[in-house]
Amino acid sequence: MGQPPDDPESFADLNGHMFWAPFLGSSGEIGNISFLIASGAGPSELSAGLNYFGNADPQGGQAQSTQTPQSLANQVPPEMKAAIMDALNASNAPTDDDKKGGFHEESVKSGKDASGNVVVSPSVPGPYAPPGTDPHTGFKPADPKKDEKLVTVDVFAHIHPKGNADRPFNQFPSKKDIAGAKDSPSAINLVVGAKDKKVYFFNGSDQIGNPIKLKDFMRGPQ
Ligand SMILES: [Zn+2]
Repeated sequence: MGQPPDDPESFADLNGHMFWAPFLGSSGEIGNISFLIASGAGPSELSAGLNYFGNADPQGGQAQSTQTPQSLANQVPPEMKAAIMDALNASNAPTDDDKKGGFHEESVKSGKDASGNVVVSPSVPGPYAPPGTDPHTGFKPADPKKDEKLVTVDVFAHIHPKGNADRPFNQFPSKKDIAGAKDSPSAINLVVGAKDKKVYFFNGSDQIGNPIKLKDFMRGPQ
């Protein structure tokens, strides 16, 4: 309401992720990026970002350092892809405290049970994120019994809210997301932008490559 987006996910994180601006901006799909380039990053920051973009993963996530977004997408089981679509729709839908929908996160994880079967464990909805607060999800299982079956967790997925023109949310992984992925170095970590409908993969060090379109993610192995 007349104030700049002040949510850490959509604003404070940008210092750490300024280098994405040229790529995101070129898609023309994220409305606040051009503003950010104009107000924040100078040419040196942008070129530094371009250099950084080409670097190999310096630490952690070795298992994924040669992975591409599409090769990672191919490893997400179909059951999990369906659950991610459900989570996306749930993020756009109203909850007890997010009366309109589009202003809270959702999350889901998948892995294997003791017999090697795929188990998908959706989380409870994240809380409504009023202006000035950080949308988040704690991966708190909606069904603890089901969650207990997970012997391994192979994929962590969460949804960044759609928001609106008055209250946009960054769609790409936040610094906090990337820091959190350090705890699961062998898992696939991804975030889906509910507004830009793109899937961003990341590990404990950085985003992995460019985001891919949700519809390409949902397709079978490429
Ligand atoms: Zn996030």
